[in-house]
Amino acid sequence: MPYAAEAVVLATGGLVGKGLESDRTGVREPVLGCHVPHAADRYEWFVDDVFGDQPYARFGVRTDERLRPLGPDDEVQYPNVTVAGATLAGADVAREKSASGVSLATGLVAGREAAAEAAP
Ligand SMILES: Cc1cc2nc3c(=O)[nH]c(=O)nc-3n(C[C@H](O)[C@H](O)[C@H](O)COP(=O)(O)OP(=O)(O)OC[C@H]3O[C@@H](n4cnc5c(N)ncnc54)[C@H](O)[C@@H]3O)c2cc1C
Repeated sequence: MPYAAEAVVLATGGLVGKGLESDRTGVREPVLGCHVPHAADRYEWFVDDVFGDQPYARFGVRTDERLRPLGPDDEVQYPNVTVAGATLAGADVAREKSASGVSLATGLVAGREAAAEAAP
């Protein structure tokens, strides 16, 4: 039975889960193909200090203020998609000890935005 959605919240987790995939060639968001900004040279994905400010910890999908994913051109990639939780770029939640807080707060906003998109 196929189901169609007018709006989608992407909350599939980050590098630890299945929400972001990486290998030696790059980092990807596998479900919708949202853009995941990262340096082309993978030696720039980390710093030697294991407790340092690790670039890979901030990998994820960048969004606008409504949590809609941004493409490589900084334009909204999918207007009816919002992104929440560990899939998002920008915060090093392990260092901040903020993972659940970021997930809860952005989940609320992403859900509200999706509901508004589906029933304007
Ligand atoms: C070991 C560990 C300890 C942690 N300790 C803390 C802590 O002390 N404090 C804290 O604040 N946070 C902690 N966290 C982080 C926190 O628990 C959450 O993992 C984090 O907030 C991310 O939540 P999320 O909902 O964005 O993603 P996730 O919790 O990863 O949820 C993503 C969900 O999407 C599903 N999914 C992925 N791909 C697909 C697909 N294609 N189709 C269908 N479903 C899919 C996954 O199965 C999963 O259920 C810890 C995490 C880990 C791994």
